[in-house]
Amino acid sequence: MAELITVQGDITTLRVDAIVNAANTSLLGGGGVDGAIHRAAGPELVAECRKLDGCATGDAKATPGFHLPASWVFHTVGPVWQGGGHDEDDLLEGCYRRCLELAKLHHVRSIAFPAISTGVYHFPPRRAARIAIDTVREHVDASGVEVVRFACLGTDTLAIYEELLQQPPRAPIA
Ligand code: ADP
Repeated sequence: MAELITVQGDITTLRVDAIVNAANTSLLGGGGVDGAIHRAAGPELVAECRKLDGCATGDAKATPGFHLPASWVFHTVGPVWQGGGHDEDDLLEGCYRRCLELAKLHHVRSIAFPAISTGVYHFPPRRAARIAIDTVREHVDASGVEVVRFACLGTDTLAIYEELLQQPPRAPIA
């Protein structure tokens, strides 16, 4: 089983093979973690993103990391929280699953995820963290990834991840 660990702080500083960007469907930059990643990667990143023709919610696309310490950025688009009745859980699960598929494709051994959709997209943080951890646990070994870091900007998010990571995986539904 891969190692799943938390880290507090700015995801753009992490020395991992890939960092995940919580982008929007245009992939042309935004605020929050997206803005931080574009600032740290340099203008080459948006130029590369322009070639990708956007990204659907729940999907992910890869670019190089340019000036980031990370070799890759996996841009994924989380769902906007609309109360839970609009497939938000499945779409968020898709983000984590698709990023691990990209990790396999690009032989990534270490990856860092932000708390996708929990900023301006307003997904409830605990529910989002549960989905993040469950989905990563389910798919990480098939991906070849050895270390997953959950990058938490705030201490509230960090506390949620630390608590949930201590709990045993949920039994699969028979
Ligand atoms: P979304 O639109 O998917 O909600 P946001 O960027 O608004 O994306 O927020 C997603 C999460 O990323 C939030 O928990 C936010 O606190 C966090 N975040 C913002 N900037 C950074 C950063 N530089 N490193 C790590 N996490 C960040």
